[in-house]
Amino acid sequence: GAGLAGATQAPRATAQDRRQWQERFEAFRARGLSIDMTRGKPCAEQLALSDALLDLPGRGDFLTEDGGDARNYYGGPLGLPEARRLFCTMLDATPEQVAVGNNSSLALMHDMLAFAVLHGVPGGAQPWSRETDRFLCPVPGYDRHFALCEAFGLEMVPVPMTGRGPDMDAVEALARDPRVKGMWCVPLYSNPTGETYAPDVVERLARMQTGAPDFRLFWDKAYAVHHLTEQAEGVPSILALSAQAGHADRPLVFGSTSKITFAGAGLGLLAASRANLDWYAGHAGVRSIGPDKLNQLRHVRLLRDHAGLLVHMQAQRAILAPKFAIVQSALERHLDGRGVATWTRPRGGYFVSLQVRNGCARRVVALARQLGIVLVPAGKTHPQGHDPRDSTLRLAPSFPDPADLATAMEGICLGILLACTEEPLP
Ligand code: PMP
Repeated sequence: GAGLAGATQAPRATAQDRRQWQERFEAFRARGLSIDMTRGKPCAEQLALSDALLDLPGRGDFLTEDGGDARNYYGGPLGLPEARRLFCTMLDATPEQVAVGNNSSLALMHDMLAFAVLHGVPGGAQPWSRETDRFLCPVPGYDRHFALCEAFGLEMVPVPMTGRGPDMDAVEALARDPRVKGMWCVPLYSNPTGETYAPDVVERLARMQTGAPDFRLFWDKAYAVHHLTEQAEGVPSILALSAQAGHADRPLVFGSTSKITFAGAGLGLLAASRANLDWYAGHAGVRSIGPDKLNQLRHVRLLRDHAGLLVHMQAQRAILAPKFAIVQSALERHLDGRGVATWTRPRGGYFVSLQVRNGCARRVVALARQLGIVLVPAGKTHPQGHDPRDSTLRLAPSFPDPADLATAMEGICLGILLACTEEPLP
């Protein structure tokens, strides 16, 4: 669970402890390491799982299942039927509700916001205006979601995460404000806390009254099938629940294959109501004659169907789970019982999130950098890059190889011990 509470008291270490940590720190620094732990980037071994894509669909294979030529202008902005079918289960949607785009779900989120700001959305009386509109931002959250809000002039309203999703009493109260036009949600294995929204949280999000008739949930299922254990977590279908509650147009569901196949050359996915999809197709059809259909075909050939996709994700898990285990065992070995930090034990996704003692996160990042370990700047998990408690750290274990990761974790733990403890009083 993500029961995160930053300790406020400076835990006291013995002078001998601190001397020993300082010595280890100096010896570590002398090694001149360089280890990148900033982004949730797949490692080379993970990418290699999809190397068959480099030969697919292959010379002569360009016909879609309905007889179209994937090399040519063909089909509309929603993508190939076989690709829409392949990814619908992952998005808790029907094939008709799915649009398959080019790489990067962020690009789709960006386009949704751009279309909303320029043209308005179905059910809205006017374009989203730049001055007054607000977005609910669960914190800690994903920095690129916050960057989109900044780019479009949307005021960010932070809402705390609870370990089972956002604080729904706060969300329901804030959503009554008609200036609140939307909310970011990473319902599964959230970035960075790893928590999955509880079913009652999802239900309340689908049902709640909103002041804005054109309110949208930006439902980012980036880690929909990215399980790290046998206990695969899931959430109820936000599309189905919202429709039942009379708010069919509320959710915009996003996903991608960035952490399934190639992070730089995958497919971006969108699922939404008929009205939202028509709206998207209308604007996307002006922007482009259509997405890259050969990439869709090559993904269909590689993954085949949802079952094939899950098999593929088992192979991803075999690479990732041992790395997450390295992170956990280092944190336990070095920090357990010290009162300097709490951390999450995610069952999926790409991140471990730490709460170090209040006022120490930036110092930990700076100390790690002295050791050649690059962490994402402290504060990035909060709107405007400002963590008022200076206490949240995000670790991304996927990219370094296991040996480097173990080394990095030792260095990070040393940094935490030095930053978060104080000399005993004389
Ligand atoms: N959403 C979340 C929550 C993410 O963590 C990430 C990647 N780190 C993305 C979106 C980006 O996905 P894409 O590559 O599809 O743009």
